[in-house]
Amino acid sequence: MLSNKIDDTKLYINGEFVDSISGNTFENLNPFTNETINRVAAGNREDISFAVAAAKEAFRNGPWRTMKISERLQYIHRIAELIDKNVEEIAYLESLDTGLPISQTRKMIARSAENFRFYAAMVRSRLVGEAYQQDDEFINYTVYQPLGIVGLITPWNAPFMLETWKVAPALATGNTVILKPAELSPLTANKLAQIIDEAQLPKGVFNVVHGFGETAGAALVAHPDVAAISFTGETVTGSLIIKNAADTMKRVSMELGGKSPLIIFEDADFERALDAAVWGIFSFNGERCTANSRVFLHTSLKERFVAALKERVANIRVGDPLNAKTQVGPLIHKDHWKKVTDYIALAQQEGCTVYSGQVPESFQHGNFVAPTLLLNAKNEMRVCQEEIFGPVMAVIEFETEEDVIQMANDVKYGLAGYVWTNDIKRAHRVAQAMESGMIWINAQNVRDLRIPFGGMKYSGIGREGGHYAFEFYTEPKVIHVAIGNHHIPQFGK
Ligand code: NAD
Repeated sequence: MLSNKIDDTKLYINGEFVDSISGNTFENLNPFTNETINRVAAGNREDISFAVAAAKEAFRNGPWRTMKISERLQYIHRIAELIDKNVEEIAYLESLDTGLPISQTRKMIARSAENFRFYAAMVRSRLVGEAYQQDDEFINYTVYQPLGIVGLITPWNAPFMLETWKVAPALATGNTVILKPAELSPLTANKLAQIIDEAQLPKGVFNVVHGFGETAGAALVAHPDVAAISFTGETVTGSLIIKNAADTMKRVSMELGGKSPLIIFEDADFERALDAAVWGIFSFNGERCTANSRVFLHTSLKERFVAALKERVANIRVGDPLNAKTQVGPLIHKDHWKKVTDYIALAQQEGCTVYSGQVPESFQHGNFVAPTLLLNAKNEMRVCQEEIFGPVMAVIEFETEEDVIQMANDVKYGLAGYVWTNDIKRAHRVAQAMESGMIWINAQNVRDLRIPFGGMKYSGIGREGGHYAFEFYTEPKVIHVAIGNHHIPQFGK
């Protein structure tokens, strides 16, 4: 049911929706109006300890780990079905909470159900393990067991989808979970807890602790009973989490920031490259880790391409995220709006020509940034080196393949990359040379759940998706079985 009144958001621990132990709450703001949507229970160290105790009991003594795999996967399928049934409500909550246009959140939420189905299928085939006969005396076999309690820490951009990328493989492989969603976008994590509650997973298997990074997040990272942290967020936060997780020897997965290049060579399909470049930075309000925030144009097409970009940008529909026609909504928060607008001012100081689209007069109350082009940018400028995370495209000219590869790689990040050319050899040559975890050739960013998702350099450690996530959430244990009387040295006899 869609309603204008949103209940306050509680923590979900041991199968119950509860207030924080301290009773503290924080305000959750609507990015479109900057008015309060609701209040959210603010978890801290005590709430994390409570959730970890519940998850530990559920892992050690509950049925989750030991039940038949087929039974566990029925729960996973039930979660997917409930997401399907609730797509419209979840998309509404997501757009209300984040400012992402509803036409985009609808598609994203529908895809989130697939994460559960995908990992149900993968676990069915992968949890069987392998056996090797060493010789006449030994058989060795490997089993993939859940790690135990895993902590999932997620960001505010695309919150529901990114949460399900982690929750689905973590649960399907038999772990118990504590999710710490971003404080700026708590609504759909709460909805996920309601869905999992309705799917009747055993108590304590899935828990959500809302709260701030320095309190709830840090306590989860430091807790000795938590076996692993899967994190998506900013690079500086990721670096801090790695340091803090080291004391308790946790496995970590890091999906971090990006400053991804999109290269358009002179022989590219002009119109398709234009569509992809515009979509890739202005969809999801530009608050997208894989956004093509640096667009490299070959000198021969620069003038024509920039003219076409300007025309597109001038016509992008900026507005109410709940209006199905809106293409760019307000940014998540006033502080983030300031960060993005400060970068646009910096671009001017650094020598760019700034060209912006329109924010309608009536929407001046939200955190809107007009779709913006930073023209005549140079790769070494700060606006081309630092993640802006808004609807801002830097446009950089290049002459040779060699130069553009160098510029594309001259950045600390290495998440995504896009190459547009009809020369098949060049396409592969450039893709191989680019320092990014994921490259798309003549394509926009499409996600296949089987492939590894993630970055290199400052964009992350490890990969999500496919068997990469399966391996992250499981421990391969080898069991050596003597089937003959192999020689055992006798000491002291
Ligand atoms: P953020 O790092 O500020 O916060 C992410 C999460 O970390 C939040 O839940 C926050 O509460 C928590 N956190 C903050 N400090 C913490 C601490 N000390 N200990 C434990 N947890 C802590 O990131 P954000 O602003 O929410 O998200 C935007 C960033 O995420 C961008 O840099 C974007 O590129 C990145 N991102 C990356 C991917 C990817 O797959 N590589 C996907 C989406 C977003």
